[in-house]
Amino acid sequence: MSVRVRFAPSPTGPLHIGGVRTALYNYLFARANNGTFILRIEDTDQTRYVEGAEGYIVEALSWCGLEPDEGPGISGDHGPYRQSERKDLYGHYAQQLVESGKAYYAFDTPEQLERMREDLKAEGVHTPKYDSSVRERMHNSVSLPAERVQALLDQGVPYTIRLLVPPDEQVTFVDRIRGEITFSTSELDDKVLLKTGGMPTYHLANVVDDHLMGITHVIRGEEWLSSTAHHVLLYRAFGWEATMPEFAHLPLILKPSGQGKLSKRDGAKFGFPVFPLFWEDTSGAFLGFREEGFLPEAMLNFLAFLGWNPGTEQEIFDLNELVAAFSLEQVSRSGARFDYDKALWFNSQYLQTMDDQTLAARLHPLLNAKYGKVDAAILPAYCNLFKERAQVLGDLVDGGSYVFEEPGDYDDAFVSRKWDAQMATHFDGLKDRLADLSEFAPQQIEMAIKPYIQDNGLRFGDVLQLLRCSVSGSPKGPDVFRMLALLDQETVVRRMTASIERFNHVKAIEHG
Ligand code: GLU
Repeated sequence: MSVRVRFAPSPTGPLHIGGVRTALYNYLFARANNGTFILRIEDTDQTRYVEGAEGYIVEALSWCGLEPDEGPGISGDHGPYRQSERKDLYGHYAQQLVESGKAYYAFDTPEQLERMREDLKAEGVHTPKYDSSVRERMHNSVSLPAERVQALLDQGVPYTIRLLVPPDEQVTFVDRIRGEITFSTSELDDKVLLKTGGMPTYHLANVVDDHLMGITHVIRGEEWLSSTAHHVLLYRAFGWEATMPEFAHLPLILKPSGQGKLSKRDGAKFGFPVFPLFWEDTSGAFLGFREEGFLPEAMLNFLAFLGWNPGTEQEIFDLNELVAAFSLEQVSRSGARFDYDKALWFNSQYLQTMDDQTLAARLHPLLNAKYGKVDAAILPAYCNLFKERAQVLGDLVDGGSYVFEEPGDYDDAFVSRKWDAQMATHFDGLKDRLADLSEFAPQQIEMAIKPYIQDNGLRFGDVLQLLRCSVSGSPKGPDVFRMLALLDQETVVRRMTASIERFNHVKAIEHG
């Protein structure tokens, strides 16, 4: 049987980074097994539906390169892939369970349900629930005579359909990550399967769709582990146990402190992204990993390690390597601590090893957005020079701003320490040498400058830092000869000329 997995987010907000990891693990598992990766939108809870969330999910997956094989708007034989478009079918399945005695109509009003909870509390029950212990005293098709039930149905009295959970049974299933897990049915309530009005609950729609879509493995977050007992009971009730998917519940992603689940607020609090892409709602605006300057492949590599490791020292894995190395058995059971420094480390590794042409192509639109149209021809050399120091794309956009526009601030404190009248004369000499070069390449520039420094008994450090400062504003930066070459001859000579005057002025003010 071929592997079919699904990523089944609810469009109730932006996709959290934990959701991207769930999608990634599903994707890796599908690819490793020549299987199919399906996107299913679980949008039956209209009260929690958020406009734009589905589009966000699709865009985020696409940015990461986790393209589904089947999903809304993508071909596939098991559609529609949006649960709201399948809503008519769930009622039929709920009805089927009522007919086979595995589920029942419940006509209880909200007031009756509330009274039941209060009565149970008064009887000393800690967490009151609608289960076999109260079923008989409630208003449902188990407790009422058949004619009465029919009459209520005929009158159109609103009802829900509840799963009839048998008491004192064991529900055992094997989780691929956690091993054998057993729940006692006495811990479980008679879950609502179909709500008044005919919409399915998550449990019904999820199980029916996993069955109809031929899902072989359910890989999802740990928060769904406790629902799985009900899901297993549903498979049994439908008689689908033989083809029930295998389950794998992924560990939680924890706050940087390791205490508690990573939340949307943690991102704002600690200043790091918790969403893949920008998101804005009434609670605020959030930059995503994309806007923070991450390469999607670096983010995926980072996420892959949140809860999994290959058991070797290797840390850098592209998507294909992850496919080859990934296994559910190596996913950990304990929560994974979100470490933003590690995310930055991954990104810097990717920036440094990415070839300059590719990096230049990614950077070009960002540079255009900031500086107006920039010349694409110099960008590979620009990336090559600046990427060593970059952690995020923004470092490459801002780090070499003086390549694309005139330097703003100059380090006057540095200038006043190092500049004097004698240096002004030498700068003039150096500038003339650079102006005379017929080829303005790093090696030629170096050959022009170094002997001059030596012949005049100057200090290398001082001259090179002043040179850098004169064209960029700062004495610090990448290799000065390559930097000058990148700026081109005309710009260098012009900025040096202006700097001589400027630096003299700074010094004059000093002595002022
Ligand atoms: N719709 C659920 C969610 O939002 C899906 C859980 C599952 O994968 O079964 O995560």
